[in-house]
Amino acid sequence: MSATRTAVVTGSTSGIGLAIARALAAQSCNVVVNSFSDRPEDHEVAAEISRAHKVEAAYIGADMSKPAECRALVAKAAERFGSVDILVNNAGIQHVAPVEEFPVEKWDAIIAINLSSAFHTIAAAIPLMKREGGGRIVNIASAHGLVASPFKSAYVAAKHGIMGLTKTVALEIARDHITCNAVCPGYVLTPLVEAQIPDQMKANNMDRDTVVREVMLDRQPTKEFVTVEQVAAAVTYLCSEAAAQVNGTHISIDGGWVAQ
Ligand code: NAD
Repeated sequence: MSATRTAVVTGSTSGIGLAIARALAAQSCNVVVNSFSDRPEDHEVAAEISRAHKVEAAYIGADMSKPAECRALVAKAAERFGSVDILVNNAGIQHVAPVEEFPVEKWDAIIAINLSSAFHTIAAAIPLMKREGGGRIVNIASAHGLVASPFKSAYVAAKHGIMGLTKTVALEIARDHITCNAVCPGYVLTPLVEAQIPDQMKANNMDRDTVVREVMLDRQPTKEFVTVEQVAAAVTYLCSEAAAQVNGTHISIDGGWVAQ
């Protein structure tokens, strides 16, 4: 691997992805920050990470619903920094509705962004990692990669899919000093979760506090939200030398949710 590792984190201007980009920069990695919006404030996120951690950080816009842009993100990162040593597939969206009313375009977008984007970025990154003699791939799945909840058919299908992708890729690259693992958070209070509270209120006919207590934290035995920093710490572990033999598996960070 290169002396200074380069990390690409998809969907990293907000929430969990931003915390992962910061945590990897704190480990002295160069960082590629990504989202689809390409606004001045997105570039400022990268500039702020660069200043705070004295690393090189660049914002590269790419829409993870588009296969060619997923692959171009990896290529542009390698062009900018010389290699891609760490790939974190984090970009994700959510939509909550009963399956018979689930909008087809939302299904397609969730499968594209939450699952297929990882196929494309991984396919683009593996030849670069092999060239460098190793690498790390971390897919941000979910407790919903392991168990289901009602009204989230597309999300649960995509997250179960990424668990299968993780295991398959892990077997394919096992002898190339590359590992591929997943992180499965429970509920983390990010903009993605905030945005689904109104839909959950409607789908369950509940007020906000009841949704948080009875729908979200009901499944999380600790009754506390996971923090973005806790998820990021699992990612930095999986990217460390200590995790060199951790491959094709997942780390759950869900307060005990899937133990039930
Ligand atoms: P968030 O909404 O805060 O951030 C999502 C990020 O993805 C943003 O930077 C956004 O710009 C980016 N993004 C969205 N669509 C994109 C696209 N088409 N192209 C490129 N970037 C795009 O969400 P979050 O809660 O931080 O979620 C991050 C990941 O963690 C997702 O994969 C999500 O499924 C997963 N996750 C979240 C929770 C939770 O409770 N928040 C729990 C388990 C798993």
